[in-house]
Amino acid sequence: MRFTKTLIPTMKEVPSDAVTPSHILMLRSGMIRKLASGIYEWLPLGKKALNKVEKVIRELHDEEGCLEVLLPALLPKSLWELSGRWAEYGAELVRLKDRQGREFCLAPTHEEAITELAGNYIKSYKDLPKIFYQIQTKYRDEIRPRFGVMRAREFIMKDAYSFDADGKGAELSYDRMFALYKKICAALSLKAVPVLAKTGLIGGTKSHEFMAPSDEGEEELVYCRCGWGANQELAHSKISAAKAESAPWREDPRPLEEVSTPGVRTVEEVSAFLKMPEEKFIKTLIYRTAEGFACVLVRGDHSADPAKLRAIIGEDARLADEKEIEEITGGPLGFSGPAGLKIKAYADNTIKYCSNMVSGANKKDAHIKNINYPRDFEAEFMNIRTVKAGDPCPECGKALDVARGIEIGHTFYLGTKYSEKLKASFTDKAGKDLPIEMGCYGIGVSRIVAALISQNHDDKGIIWPRAMAPYQIEIIAASSNGPAMEKAEEIYEALSKKYEVLFDDRDVSAGIKFKDADLIGIPVRIVLGPRGMKTGECEIQSRADGKTEAVKLDKILEKISDFT
Ligand SMILES: [Zn+2]
Repeated sequence: MRFTKTLIPTMKEVPSDAVTPSHILMLRSGMIRKLASGIYEWLPLGKKALNKVEKVIRELHDEEGCLEVLLPALLPKSLWELSGRWAEYGAELVRLKDRQGREFCLAPTHEEAITELAGNYIKSYKDLPKIFYQIQTKYRDEIRPRFGVMRAREFIMKDAYSFDADGKGAELSYDRMFALYKKICAALSLKAVPVLAKTGLIGGTKSHEFMAPSDEGEEELVYCRCGWGANQELAHSKISAAKAESAPWREDPRPLEEVSTPGVRTVEEVSAFLKMPEEKFIKTLIYRTAEGFACVLVRGDHSADPAKLRAIIGEDARLADEKEIEEITGGPLGFSGPAGLKIKAYADNTIKYCSNMVSGANKKDAHIKNINYPRDFEAEFMNIRTVKAGDPCPECGKALDVARGIEIGHTFYLGTKYSEKLKASFTDKAGKDLPIEMGCYGIGVSRIVAALISQNHDDKGIIWPRAMAPYQIEIIAASSNGPAMEKAEEIYEALSKKYEVLFDDRDVSAGIKFKDADLIGIPVRIVLGPRGMKTGECEIQSRADGKTEAVKLDKILEKISDFT
């Protein structure tokens, strides 16, 4: 493709609402254009990248025996009422009426539609198992669309749905799709880790998210080289038995001892004042919840994870104010502790194994030493703390990694949640009518393009992984006319027979061509300059590592294969 014949509107500046590298680079390289908030147009370069992602996903699903369908994006309310999700889904569901006043939604997901379809045709155990998939545009009325195509209101998803005769079969389908997703990530050159996840509005009982580690990610993931991984909101680390049994974790309980701590409130301050490590403290946080006041206990060197907390004390819970703390504990803010406190206590699991701890005395300027469970307080033990990098893996005990991640895929074991409601049943061998067991599996196709860029760029621009690049080779003539340009034309014609080639034939300076080439990030670049014309050479450059090799013009066809 000639640069002058395609449309690649590269930009120096981007709108201020673009803050993440992938969003900025997709706009600057002319891959996408914003039409309205959270709604993007894919321009030729972007569409080529998108097509590559789709192709890999489609081919590998076909290879696995999944059946491609295309369901409508516009779905009737009646269908969504059968599952109960018309009411459940809330404001994120785009709802509209036709001219007769009938209500519809623009689907964010297709469990209802596919279950209705499958229920119509699957009648017998002989028709099972089946996995259907589609690659299609989805809609979600995001309250705050952001990060370009990463969190848009219209986006492209691959969604697949498995149908099986029993739970065992459904587990097998789940495992097949799980393995397929790993294969797809590898083929896309996308670094991704599967982690345990919550099921959310889709429902079901078993769920994994495929997370692409990236600083742009909105979620925190915790993972281990052994394969174990979980989102921070579900993650826990091993409470090492050895550590729990040995000093200072398992000392003989000593008698409670009140110590004067005038004006020191935070764990950090009290720890310095008493010359005791932060891990010997119990942090006591008082919350006002829907059921009244409650306290949350975590070790002094730990922090309570906001998502885990919300799941325990409720979305609407808030920290108690100073006046409330005085009323509940009898002491001012900064001097609360579990000993003698008469409200419901939720403690992180690690607290159970600690002994002779320090916490507030529930009175001004005093703390208590040697607090022990269960002698001095009652609590419900739960997974509350934020898991940190280096904590031991719950499976193998090795150090865990913590990273931010972009959710690029999600797998759910649904069971019969939808098939029961939509009456999708089959007759088993014994002639009994049973609901079909289901699973559903999504991949964010448009989001993957952004995730790939977020994992592969530098300060100059995108560095496309070879397998996913919109073009494999870019040809640049350093001057826009003369022998270098003529030779470039010749090489372009020859290479185009075998490769996807972008030929920068614009009448602009070499500097602009090089800058744009770095920005667009085609993996291999052939540069023809006036000097090379005299020696009969050109340069082949690799975008990823900057490796440059001078190559005789008549050897380009042979040499280029070393680079692609
Ligand atoms: Zn591990």
